[in-house]
Amino acid sequence: MLNQLSESIYYLSNQNDKERPTLGLVCGDKYSLVVDAGNSVQHARDFLHEIEKLNVPPVKYVVITHAHWDHFLGMNEYGATIIMNSLTSQKMNDWWNYSYDDRSLQEYVDSKKMNTLCMETIQHEIPDRDTFQLSHPDIIFEKSLHVDLGNKVCVLETIRSTHTDDSTIVYIPDEKVIFLGDSAYNTTTNSLYHIKQDKLLPMIEDIQQYDAVHFLLGHESICDVEEMDTYWRELVSANNAVKSTSLEEAIERFEAANDRIANDNELFFLQGFVNDQLLQSKVTE
Ligand SMILES: [Zn+2]
Repeated sequence: MLNQLSESIYYLSNQNDKERPTLGLVCGDKYSLVVDAGNSVQHARDFLHEIEKLNVPPVKYVVITHAHWDHFLGMNEYGATIIMNSLTSQKMNDWWNYSYDDRSLQEYVDSKKMNTLCMETIQHEIPDRDTFQLSHPDIIFEKSLHVDLGNKVCVLETIRSTHTDDSTIVYIPDEKVIFLGDSAYNTTTNSLYHIKQDKLLPMIEDIQQYDAVHFLLGHESICDVEEMDTYWRELVSANNAVKSTSLEEAIERFEAANDRIANDNELFFLQGFVNDQLLQSKVTE
């Protein structure tokens, strides 16, 4: 079932056991716009099935927030205009030439172009894989694009992010709603999760420019202003405490600065920033 956020905005909650991210629907007087296409044909069909139950204008646009498979693999199903930023399009280059049969998929997994979870999702949730070919985008934008759905404007913009360097947000000024995709999350390099220290403050600055009261996140569904403020505060205080590759030192610095022990979120962030220091030290070696 879809969650209704306002008169014109709905979303399908993320489903972590299936690696399905949050999908959004924004409806104007004439057209509707989908935020992220889903991780498979089946995910997209499930979403479209729910959309059909509503009396809303046809889906004319699908925005892909970044080039991670779980956000775009369902995009063919909408028969809509696919929109993404130019870096996302570049990063997806390989995908347009992929074959989706078992042997090819195993080759991509062996050469680390694809993870096992992605392969299994494709095997279970994309029918007719012998003929499956991922669509190309119809609109590629650089920094910013405004899409008018009929008395409802969606602002698509690239932001600086700790997750990827190709993050697009979708902001609906009328409703003070922002779809962040995965932009506020950590990232993984060589199987190590880390939070890019040099991107944290620029990202918060970019996101806080939008006057929003509802924040939709790729794998959490929805946060209000207070929850986002807590999230930023915990991230920033963890970031401030990490100045080396030592977690012990970071925890000590955190406790001295905050006069308390770190909670579970903060510990996760501290480790994420320490891992980032580790990766940076390897780069400069
Ligand atoms: Zn992602």
